[in-house]
Amino acid sequence: FVEIRHAQKAYGDLEVLKDISLNVERGQIVAIIGPSGSGKSTLLRAINDLDALTSGEIWLDGVQVNKTLPHRQYEKHINQMRQQIGMVFQHFNLFPHLNVRDNVTMAPKLLKGISKAEADTLAEEQLAHVGMLERIDFYPSQLSGGQKQRVAIARALAMKPKLMLFDEATSALDPELVEEVNLVMKKLAEEDMTMIIVTHEMDFAASVCDRVLFMDQGVVVEEGPPEKIFRNPDKDRTREFLRKHL
Ligand code: ATP
Ligand code: MG
Repeated sequence: FVEIRHAQKAYGDLEVLKDISLNVERGQIVAIIGPSGSGKSTLLRAINDLDALTSGEIWLDGVQVNKTLPHRQYEKHINQMRQQIGMVFQHFNLFPHLNVRDNVTMAPKLLKGISKAEADTLAEEQLAHVGMLERIDFYPSQLSGGQKQRVAIARALAMKPKLMLFDEATSALDPELVEEVNLVMKKLAEEDMTMIIVTHEMDFAASVCDRVLFMDQGVVVEEGPPEKIFRNPDKDRTREFLRKHL
């Protein structure tokens, strides 16, 4: 469903991704763990071509995301692809001048051309889903970090994505706010959303994910089901990393 084929990425002489290949089945939840600088965010951003690969291919549901096309056609193509890929980052990137409703309805109105009434209904549904309906008229500055992240998730879901990418969505949150966001992600997992989640939270990865990938220095060192990776990894590098992080 999601296919990464021989992904390579270099910044000058620095090779950040070294021949990474990965297939994610529809409905699968994959966690990516690894030390700082190992290339996790770069890989995630390559999936929707926010960070263009030096070489390699990204496919989503049978369509190549990072196709080579003349500029105009590429813009059209990538916008269509990005509409199918929801992304939630560490630092809440809500629009500060828009209230919660408008944050959620903006993209569907703009990109899907649906009416304001339809968009409002959609926003209400998605906000209810993340438990934020009662804050629909609030502005981002009036929300806690956990609430902002839940709105960011609702906003991504309003585009009805085929795939959700999370890049340390909870790591900027106070510990007591992490759980509310994790619960929303768990719920999505139960609804068979396909997700790729970069996380430092090993407990969360173990309880929610079907597969765990350990990355170090631009390579996937090892991957497997969480029971295997967390309890009995094959590689010393994995063991070493987990010893520090479990
Ligand atoms: P963290 O856990 O700290 O978020 P990460 O695994 O997400 O780390 P990346 O952000 O993917 O790591 O970065 C991987 C490497 O790529 C790092 O060495 C980083 O310095 C380098 N890098 C990232 N972006 C650029 C850039 N625009 N120019 C040059 N080097 C970059
Ligand atoms: Mg990162």
